[in-house]
Amino acid sequence: MHSFNDDMETLAKAVMQYSLDRMRMDPPPMDAPATEVELESKAGQTVTEAGLGGTEALRVFSDVLAPACLSVDHPRLLAFVPAAPTEASILFDLVVGASSIYAGSWLEGAGAVYAENQALRWIADLAGFPTGAGGVFVAGGTAGNLSALVAARHQWRDRSGLGKTRGLVISSAGAHASIAQATRVMDADIVTVPGHRLTGAGVAETIAQLDPDDRARLFAVASTAGTTNIGIIDDLEGIADVCERESLWFHVDGAYGGAGLAAPSVRAQFNGIERADSFIVDPHKWLFAPFDCCALIYRDPETGRRAHRQHGDYLEVLYGGIWNPSDYAHHLSRRARGLPLWFSLATHGTKAYSDAVETTLSVARAAASLVQDHPNLELVVEQCLSIVMFRRKGWTPEDYQAWSNDLMRRGEAFVTPTKHEGETVLRFCVVNPRTRVEDIEFILDSLR
Ligand SMILES: *Cc1c(COP(=O)(O)O)cnc(C)c1O
Repeated sequence: MHSFNDDMETLAKAVMQYSLDRMRMDPPPMDAPATEVELESKAGQTVTEAGLGGTEALRVFSDVLAPACLSVDHPRLLAFVPAAPTEASILFDLVVGASSIYAGSWLEGAGAVYAENQALRWIADLAGFPTGAGGVFVAGGTAGNLSALVAARHQWRDRSGLGKTRGLVISSAGAHASIAQATRVMDADIVTVPGHRLTGAGVAETIAQLDPDDRARLFAVASTAGTTNIGIIDDLEGIADVCERESLWFHVDGAYGGAGLAAPSVRAQFNGIERADSFIVDPHKWLFAPFDCCALIYRDPETGRRAHRQHGDYLEVLYGGIWNPSDYAHHLSRRARGLPLWFSLATHGTKAYSDAVETTLSVARAAASLVQDHPNLELVVEQCLSIVMFRRKGWTPEDYQAWSNDLMRRGEAFVTPTKHEGETVLRFCVVNPRTRVEDIEFILDSLR
């Protein structure tokens, strides 16, 4: 198993060929999910005592398994938050896999950590964070939000002496599900401010209504820069004022929308983010990196380190004035998952990133005006960032679902219904610079 012999050489070439062929497809096949019964009948039992051999395992993957996975980089896949990794970042994902780098510590992964930190610094600069800011790439926004809120609670308990008190977080109805999930994992409570956009006034009013015990256990405000469903950016300036006045941790979840920081046309909407204590953005969403990649950045990394550093006899050799990525989140061993983004940034430069985000924004703006000009459609809310939410006049939830299923089954597009204030509606999320206005027109034509 552990030898690079002639068979492995042949397999390596086949794997590389498969990867290159997949990257060259423009567009890739949309593909569609299969049932477990279908997969069972086509793929059968793949894990056996003797093994299938690499050639056969690769065949099963390419003929049966891959076609049962949607290509989320398809330019007409506009559901949820799609992905659009650059070729450079995909290629480097292969390199990261081949390099066996332990990227949890400086001792073992100094070169990788150095490069990841430069990519993090670019993001920190976009947000206007101070020079001392820093953090780590974690698996996704869910992990990033949890790690940031754990650091916030740690600081509050240290300062308040309320080490055994259950904490409380203020968030909004527009916040991502992972914020509420983080409070469940932490066994903390959450107060959800109604409305799609969290404002400083809304936070202040919510605090004023807390009884003294609840006020004493409030430790953070979790705001959103680009809500997942609509793309709304909270009133970051106003929230920062309240957090400062009330000595609360100010977290900004920019998992989807944070990429907008790179786009001059929308940058001003993020003003106030530079005052956050912690901030996340998922490069695997709108910054063109492969899964799984979330940048978690602390204004003062010491706050993250105090909460997250693990101690053990076998670990102490790692510490002592050096930068260990494992210190900044709930993890220890980690893949150098920031390197694909770093390689692509180093290859293309940051201007190409700004341009690519602007391209998607202009397609989203064009989509909004096409919706307005369409006889059967109307915007549900104003288009925000790269999200367009609209309704097909007269349709029931079943009509929406049937239309969505048809498009996917025909391999033409993937757009799913969502809900807005209880109403079933449609939503485009454009993060792929390959999505053209013609793709939008094609989809809208099917709604006539
Ligand atoms: C997608 C998203 C998340 C969760 O990120 P994952 O990478 O899927 O874990 C969190 N917050 C917001 C605003 C998101 O859009």
